Amino acid sequence: MVIQNKAARLAAGLASSRKPMSSYRKANCPSRFNQGVFNKALLPMPVAVLARIGIKPRTANRAGYWQVCCPFHKGGEEKNASLSMHQVKGNFRCFACGAHGGDVLSFWMQYTGKSFKHAAQELGAWEGGAL
Ligand SMILES: [Zn+2]
Repeated sequence: MVIQNKAARLAAGLASSRKPMSSYRKANCPSRFNQGVFNKALLPMPVAVLARIGIKPRTANRAGYWQVCCPFHKGGEEKNASLSMHQVKGNFRCFACGAHGGDVLSFWMQYTGKSFKHAAQELGAWEGGAL
């Protein structure tokens, strides 16, 4: 009887000591859980992203693609428009230098050389977390 009680008290003590432990962990964990998240729905339209770097596309073709001068070409200005970008989806490809990507975030990462998170923050598509 005595031993059982002792075991029960020990088990109860262990069980009760677990709760403060886990809440301690939660409170002291590195900020892994409050860094925010990427929200694709907040990405700006491709026309707004191009406007940031001074590109004003003309009317898109029937498939929905603009032809603009490629900002990825080394040596600056390009004379003939080689970059093709979809006016809604933002996927792009340059037929001269081969730069390509699936959306405006990928475009911005390549243009600015920034990380996924920083590029998303600059485009306003990152929610929450400290900057
Ligand atoms: Zn190019």
